[in-house]
Amino acid sequence: MPSASTATPDRAENERVAELLAGLNPPQREAVTHGQGPLLILAGAGTGKTRVLTHRLAYLVYTGRAGIGEILAITFTNKAAQEMRERVELLLGRRTRGMWLMTFHSACARMLRADAERLGYSRQFSIYDQADARRLVKRCADELGVDPKRFTPASVQSQISDAKNRLRDAAAYRGLVESYFEQTVADVFELYERELLRSNALDFDDLLVRAVNLLELFPEVRDRYRSAFRHVLVDEYQDTNYAQYRWLQLLVGGGRGGDAQGGREEGQRNLAVVGDDSQSIYSFRSADIRNILDFEDDFPDAKVVKLEQNYRSTQTILSAANAVIRNNRSQKPKSLWTELGEGDPVKVRAFDDEHAEARFVVGEIERLVEEGVSRAELAVFYRTNAQSRVLEDTLVRREIAYQVVGGTKFYERAEIRDAVAYLQLIANPQDAVSFTRIANTPRRGIGQTSLSRVLAHAGSVGISVWEAACTPDTIPGLGTAAIKALCRFGETLARLKQKADEGVPVGDLLDATLHETGYLDMLEAERTIEAQGRSENLHEFIEVAREFDATADPGEAGLDAFLQQIALLSDADSRSDDEGLVTLMTLHNAKGLEYPIVFIIGCEDGVFPHSRALDEGGLEEERRLCYVGITRAMRDLYLTYARARSLFGARTYGVPSRFLFELPDELTDREEAPSARARSEPVPSWAHAAGSPPVGPSAVSYRLGDDVVHAAFGDGVVTGVEPGGIVVVRFASDGSERKLMAEYAPISPR
Ligand code: ATP
Ligand code: MG
Repeated sequence: MPSASTATPDRAENERVAELLAGLNPPQREAVTHGQGPLLILAGAGTGKTRVLTHRLAYLVYTGRAGIGEILAITFTNKAAQEMRERVELLLGRRTRGMWLMTFHSACARMLRADAERLGYSRQFSIYDQADARRLVKRCADELGVDPKRFTPASVQSQISDAKNRLRDAAAYRGLVESYFEQTVADVFELYERELLRSNALDFDDLLVRAVNLLELFPEVRDRYRSAFRHVLVDEYQDTNYAQYRWLQLLVGGGRGGDAQGGREEGQRNLAVVGDDSQSIYSFRSADIRNILDFEDDFPDAKVVKLEQNYRSTQTILSAANAVIRNNRSQKPKSLWTELGEGDPVKVRAFDDEHAEARFVVGEIERLVEEGVSRAELAVFYRTNAQSRVLEDTLVRREIAYQVVGGTKFYERAEIRDAVAYLQLIANPQDAVSFTRIANTPRRGIGQTSLSRVLAHAGSVGISVWEAACTPDTIPGLGTAAIKALCRFGETLARLKQKADEGVPVGDLLDATLHETGYLDMLEAERTIEAQGRSENLHEFIEVAREFDATADPGEAGLDAFLQQIALLSDADSRSDDEGLVTLMTLHNAKGLEYPIVFIIGCEDGVFPHSRALDEGGLEEERRLCYVGITRAMRDLYLTYARARSLFGARTYGVPSRFLFELPDELTDREEAPSARARSEPVPSWAHAAGSPPVGPSAVSYRLGDDVVHAAFGDGVVTGVEPGGIVVVRFASDGSERKLMAEYAPISPR
């Protein structure tokens, strides 16, 4: 703590503070040195919001405005918290162990540890992670006789989680029930809550809910924290949900609807939040963009600081980001500028398919590394995890070290390893490890005990697990249900093995395996975003096998050769990484990060923006995701798309992403020559939907108001005609507007 007792520390302090503020522009400095009361920094990407928070933390401590233990600082991830702590310690030149610098979940858990007894838990309460919670939901649903095929535990769990994020308890949820599904969820919800309490356990969402309860029910606890935390700071505020909002409000006083306990002392309201409404990308996890947009209404006396200078990107990249986000209606206008110069145009590249796209990206990476760029300066972003696979294969082949952030490398993912285990077992019935891995995945009533009996029996009699499993009635100690389950499983395996022996292509074998074992049905029934992602990965894996079938030498074909290739691919990453790693990640994971050179691949309508988002009216959120992606780039940005792509198990012909059309020509360098295929065949290369007949004769011209029909999107009406043969069509099915190439898209007059 600085002291005023001698002149020297004073001067040292002043110098230190001056130094701290030197690396900031005037509005940043204003935010860092802001005194009492609410503070909002609503600013675009790369304007130094996170930097301001970090400096403000250091400033508060350094000037004695707050002690280390009197600050609560919230980040979106643990990694971000750790980075911020390192920076603050660097700025302060001292450790900050007592500072509450963490995620919402960690802060709430810490509060609850101290006061759990007030809510009827003991201090030793358990925290159930997602998997634990799902198992409990399942148990409750079973107990209530809910049909797990109709309403999967995962879908029930996601409803419960969403309710909790909105601070609705089981009774409140029941009050809003509108369908049979919700009725069922309400029943499970009630039992689930009773069971959690009985087990002295909290799920992730409960951490927030219970912390809010604690602060609402016990004024003395609330007052304690209010006076303990003289300053509260929050990064990425645009992605907070209602429970988080309420928790903050209770800690600082004031906020929407005023203080629920009216008449009580207001709290210090030293809440500083930073965020960017253009980067709100988590509404699917109940994040509520209103939390940032309404901040000024909640706190009318809030000091609002706007940051407009971007320190990350070239003007071209910024203008590109602005051009895209401008198409969103609900957007606070912002104008970003930079001193980093015009920079190179955004490179837009088109390819015949995803392999050509991957070859290009990896080729550019090789070229850049040759020129002296470090691999660590390069990042490739994509919309869905499954898209990384083709790229990973190409990187592995060219021996370029890479990492997949926030995700697992393709061949290490659980569902892929399950699929490989099935194939391995079919190839090698002796394989007890593979058998153990998949015997009860999906669940088919072969529990741990039965499984160990099968293994023990096979061991003692000296037969393969497969043989043992196929003759379950000879295994001592098995119940009738288990015997039945094993018989059924054995039959399925035998059928698949026969296919393999007949030499069906590996792609077909894998396809049949995933269908006939019920694996894909299991994922389908979950109806969650995660399960859908896993299913997409598996279809991608079928695609790997089909490629293998199509390209392998006759001598090297077949299941064994395929498995060997996979084994080598998944083992290929123990290379040295002293020149850094190329980073691969989804656009969602890229939030808050920056890289000199960025590639965004798969810029096709349906891929990005994602078709699911389009169906569910999430176009504006997809556009914000695009804004996040573009603004990660410091120097160079590549946007690529493939005219045809095999993804999620189907071959589709892509329309370039509507986001590409939103980029003005003067910012881009486009190389989109028609593909070799388009020149030599009459079939339109951009036509959507595999197998659609060649339509849209090139002579047809459209006028505003024309009724048209599209092979994939159905009926629509022309709402715009643009130069270059582009028509804008609004589709009746989902109200979406799409830009299409009149000549190539599968549309015709109606
Ligand atoms: P995002 O919206 O992407 O989270 P942000 O607004 O949090 O971005 P930062 O990550 O804090 O922005 O800053 C972007 C980059 O600009 C960082 O490399 C940061 O160090 C640098 N930067 C910010 N302000 C300044 C400044 N005044 N002088 C020099 N560099 C700065
Ligand atoms: Mg940031």
